[in-house]
Amino acid sequence: MKLSVPSGETRCHGPAASRNACNQSPCASRATLSSSPLATDPRSQGTPPDNSPFRLSPLVLARSPLKWRWAVSICGAAAFLTGTAWAGVDAVKQTPGWQQVYVTGRYTGMVPDRPGVTERMRRVALGYHISLKLVPVHTNVPASYNWQYVASLPTPAAAIVADGKPVVYTNDEAAARQVLDTVRRALTPPGLGKTAHVAFAGSVAVRPAVVAAARIVTPAAAVRRILNPAVTSVSGRHAALHWIAARGSAAAPADSRRRVLHADAGVETAAAAGPATAATDVPARPLLTVVARQTVAQTVSVPPPVRYVNDNRLPASVTKVEQAGRPGRAREQVAEEYVNGKRVSARVVQRTVLVAPQPEVIRRGTNTGVASGEWVWPTDSHAVSSPFGWRILDGSSNFHPGIDLACPPNSPVYATNNGVVEDAGPDGGGYGTWIKVSNGDGIETVFGHLSRVTVHAGETVAKGQLIGYSGDTGFSTGPHLHYEVRRWGTPVPPQPYM
Ligand SMILES: [Zn+2]
Repeated sequence: MKLSVPSGETRCHGPAASRNACNQSPCASRATLSSSPLATDPRSQGTPPDNSPFRLSPLVLARSPLKWRWAVSICGAAAFLTGTAWAGVDAVKQTPGWQQVYVTGRYTGMVPDRPGVTERMRRVALGYHISLKLVPVHTNVPASYNWQYVASLPTPAAAIVADGKPVVYTNDEAAARQVLDTVRRALTPPGLGKTAHVAFAGSVAVRPAVVAAARIVTPAAAVRRILNPAVTSVSGRHAALHWIAARGSAAAPADSRRRVLHADAGVETAAAAGPATAATDVPARPLLTVVARQTVAQTVSVPPPVRYVNDNRLPASVTKVEQAGRPGRAREQVAEEYVNGKRVSARVVQRTVLVAPQPEVIRRGTNTGVASGEWVWPTDSHAVSSPFGWRILDGSSNFHPGIDLACPPNSPVYATNNGVVEDAGPDGGGYGTWIKVSNGDGIETVFGHLSRVTVHAGETVAKGQLIGYSGDTGFSTGPHLHYEVRRWGTPVPPQPYM
């Protein structure tokens, strides 16, 4: 059964009258409305026949099985629309003029340009504090129409296009720009510096488009759709048409009005046909990506570098901190990148040292107590006063197991190679105060007739290290250093070891 209103009938002449009528027989009204065969209506396919009576077939009424208790509100809505449209039936046939309807600044559809229609709308708008604007247009919209048909009319719009694909449609370019601005702000991290560069990733543009009116959404809905694609908007133009209808019925409970809006959104997307809460709060990636880049300055502490110095004076495996480290300070320029508010990278692009760190210097012992490399002289003096070997001393033949080096008393005496002190002190017998060093590999070096020693038994000494001072102790004929080298206990010529 079609909802057709024969010309001249006054069954639903105005909102108040029709509401009463519907209250009295909601079932009949419902049957009449919901059985409208929209699918077979050629006008819903965009080919309205000529000379047909005006029909009101809101989709919500056609496809939603309405419950009795809120049929009242639908009655009110339908009655308003019917009454509004009904008043214009004759006008449609008489004049080609139409009025574009803007509700709270939003385009909602078209009504015949006839006082009976427009005045009614104005009156209702006034009563409900609805901001209403009517803009006369001349168009080839057919004399007979329904809201769904209006919603499907190709309508100029602005498309937000990302990488060539339309994302959402808005009324005009200004609205699209506003949407992009809002989205960009929403996806930009707070506290970004003024010099930050914020831009959409890829190519995002606003392009003119022509789409079905129902696909055009408000800026707020467009922002929601972009930021959280899982949430379905119910704020399309088509919804707005019914919104004014719902507002027209003061008796409709709020819940009913909400249902009307959601059911109507089914025109746009199937997802909205379910309960309103089912489509919300599903996290999804925004349809657009905002990349923010900025360079920030920061002062950082520079850890002191560690410098190792090999020290032969220290036994191997022994380390000694010679100089404590002190951190420095540096000014860094850090390039940060944020994707949809999240920092994804930060790298230092420039660094200026304000205070250089003081390195930590660590001496690292290398002395294993074993001779290696060149040997050095035990004294500064290189004057040999008595060589190694047989000699005549006091008229008799005598073997000299070392070499005597002439030097003033208390001249420094040095270790001739790395080694470990075996004995040091005044108990050297004929050697007087002496030092005996083991240099490894069966080699021992002996320093005799010293005035005093500066090392002790067990100490690792390094090549060239001061170990004592020359003197005249023991069996000595005068101040000198007796230097002796033994191999596996037997004195050998010392020249190769000095
Ligand atoms: Zn000697």
